Amino acid sequence: MAVGDVPVSGIVVDASGLIVLPGMVDTHVHLMDPGPTDREDFPHGTRAAGTRGITTVVEHTHSRPVRTPEVLAEKISYLRGRSNVDFGLAAHLWPEDIANMAAMWGAGISFFKIFTCTTHGVPGLDASSAGRALEVLGSLDASALVHCEDEALTALAERTLRDQGRDDPGLLSEWRSRDAELTAIATIIDLARTHGARVTIAHVSDSAAARLVSVARERGADVAAEACPQYFALEESEVIEHGPLRKFTPPARIRGEDDRDRMWSTLRAGGFSHISTDHAPSTLAQKASGDIWTAPFGLPGLDTTLPFFLDAALEGLIELEDIARLYSSAPALRYGLRGKGSLEPGSDADFVLVDRTGQWRVEDEGILSKAGWSPYAGRVFRGSIVATYLRGRAIAESGRPHDERTGIFIPGPGYVIG
Ligand SMILES: [Zn+2]
Repeated sequence: MAVGDVPVSGIVVDASGLIVLPGMVDTHVHLMDPGPTDREDFPHGTRAAGTRGITTVVEHTHSRPVRTPEVLAEKISYLRGRSNVDFGLAAHLWPEDIANMAAMWGAGISFFKIFTCTTHGVPGLDASSAGRALEVLGSLDASALVHCEDEALTALAERTLRDQGRDDPGLLSEWRSRDAELTAIATIIDLARTHGARVTIAHVSDSAAARLVSVARERGADVAAEACPQYFALEESEVIEHGPLRKFTPPARIRGEDDRDRMWSTLRAGGFSHISTDHAPSTLAQKASGDIWTAPFGLPGLDTTLPFFLDAALEGLIELEDIARLYSSAPALRYGLRGKGSLEPGSDADFVLVDRTGQWRVEDEGILSKAGWSPYAGRVFRGSIVATYLRGRAIAESGRPHDERTGIFIPGPGYVIG
């Protein structure tokens, strides 16, 4: 059979009048599975992902970290039949595990997750440990995603705020300050350059921080700045009204239209290398269970990230091509996810059909993540996702997941067979 001049060996999908995008590749996702599955799990999280245009995720769960090849193998086998999208897995790096990095990279992880500050129970690496880790990273030609907040500065701020008896939500941006983020980024990008290490700075919260990364890249460092929708959409002051429902770190920084414009112009100018969600959901009850100090960090995002950026493209803030690059081809390339991020012949036939004339009103009831709520509830996003295909097969249509769990593990680029 043939369509026009193109010979066809598989299925034919009629996309008349629709936009065709490569499937999104979201490389910063926490699905808590195995782990605290009362917050999220692979079936729910990947239903949300697939239905909203994401066909590949790279997952890591802080409270059940992957630190050895044995635990990685167990997790891969546990996840068989639990994922609606293809997935890679990342390892967490403890300071005492630096000697085992080669074994982990060869076992097929997508990247090492490194913290510069002790967060979510994962110990931070100080500058000397981070230097040793990035030296090994460079020698392996491996990749790291680094959460950058300076431990000394966040600890000092916490002591000061607690001494003052503060427990109001407004303390979040003082506790997790811009200075703490910039200080850690400056240290990490310099170490990355020294050691020739491929490093992505996680969830860069503002345009000044992105600029720091760009300057290092111009000087030859293989460093990338990850962008997340919350730093474009949410304002610093929202935490005062919404409390723990806006608790994530680094926190939202935008204070007004100028800041927001700078984020979009930085994205258009290539100051951010790719987009991810940092999907780290909790339910409303879990978020309400503590104050601003004790409530869990993180936001749900898999349901809303492509719709948010599609809306921005249809409004003219970015191009549709920017979405295909930033949320699909660039992350696939950066993490060596073969067959992903492309519509070229020979790639995996992961694609999304979008109706530019449609729209989607976000409501908590429509959220497929176990979180069951969204910080974007009430917003109307232009464009609607008509269907998502994974390796040539529909995994969701008209906003409904098929839930066939056909997702498979994609080994990282360092994978050594046997
Ligand atoms: Zn994260």
